[in-house]
Amino acid sequence: MPTLKVYLVDNVALTVKADVKSQLESVFTRLIARAGQLKVTCGIDTVDVRWVTNCPTVNSDDLLIYFSSPPSGQGGFVCNQQSFGTRGLTSWNAQGVTRSDIFVPACAPGANPMAAVLGNLAFHEGMHNKLQMTNAQLHPHGGMAGATVGAATSLTDNNVRQMAPALTNRHAQDASGMVCLPGSLDL
Ligand SMILES: [Zn+2]
Repeated sequence: MPTLKVYLVDNVALTVKADVKSQLESVFTRLIARAGQLKVTCGIDTVDVRWVTNCPTVNSDDLLIYFSSPPSGQGGFVCNQQSFGTRGLTSWNAQGVTRSDIFVPACAPGANPMAAVLGNLAFHEGMHNKLQMTNAQLHPHGGMAGATVGAATSLTDNNVRQMAPALTNRHAQDASGMVCLPGSLDL
């Protein structure tokens, strides 16, 4: 059984990278386990989540998720908060090349982005990415698919039934935003 590779790109000098990785891994691990219990088709049996600073070859069955500055004037919502409206964007062009971003604003001194929120948001954008579903199509399903994703948002059985069979879907990932540093290593 194959492994799902999830590449995370940090464009905002995140201070909580290890915890974001752990959170996202834990959601995928629960998804795989629950799919087994529900007897739902799941095309993978492990997940490999990694932060990248070099430019790996990203294949169409991988996920690539950017952590980026908000597009305009949004601030503070991810800093020491448990829950808030989903802040990310996944879009694809006419050729199906897909890009997922999680938006991370600068935090006030002493405040940090909440890793649990960011990890859950990454899973949410991963759902948009793998399922190629718009907000209107995905959000009514609730849980991790819902319009509001926070630290305490749970992965529902409905989410598992929807996402598990889609984990092997192939959509070209937009790797054009990766900054390649010669000689740097994956973290
Ligand atoms: Zn969404």
